[in-house]
Order: sequence, then structure tokens, then C-alpha cells
Amino acid sequence: MLNPDFDPEPVAVRIFRIHFVSKCKAPRCLERATIAAEKVDRAGRHVRQIELRDWHCEVVINRERAREMKIADQFQVARLKAGDFLESKKPNWGTMP
Ligand SMILES: [Zn+2]
Repeated sequence: MLNPDFDPEPVAVRIFRIHFVSKCKAPRCLERATIAAEKVDRAGRHVRQIELRDWHCEVVINRERAREMKIADQFQVARLKAGDFLESKKPNWGTMP
């Protein structure tokens, strides 16, 4: 019996630099966001995403890591999709746009 999961549990946070204009989603922060933190399920599918500036994204990463959430930077996304999660100590932000 097929049992589709329509409310997938996020298991990892994908981190990547954004190139569109968005305000940091941290409460009361008025800075422009530079990074997106995208929660993905076990199959690497999008669950939800927030945009943040670097500093606030680090706060989120540390919080999610404490909850046993896997963190993958943009260079690890391919492995993420294969279900092979990698833990990066410090996300690689890439170069500023
Ligand atoms: Zn912020």
C-alpha cells in the first residue's frame, strides 16, 4: 500500500547565497538578506525557506544544528539529493554578489 507523505519532515537546511533583493526575515532586522536557508526533506525536496543576512543565518544554522538538523552549503546540494548528508563546520558563503 502506497502511503504518500504530504507533510514531509525537514531533515536538512540547504544554505546558499541569493541574488534577489529581500529583507532579512529575522525579527526587527532591517538589513538586506544575503543568504537563503532552505529546509528540505529526506529526498532533498523544498519544505520552506527564509532569507537572512549572514549573521542572522549563522544564528539559525547554529540553532538547527543543535536540533540535529543537517546543514549543507551550496556545494553539497548534489550529495544532499543523493541522501548523503555532509556536515560542514562553517558554511561556505561563496563570494559576495
Ligand atoms: Zn538580519
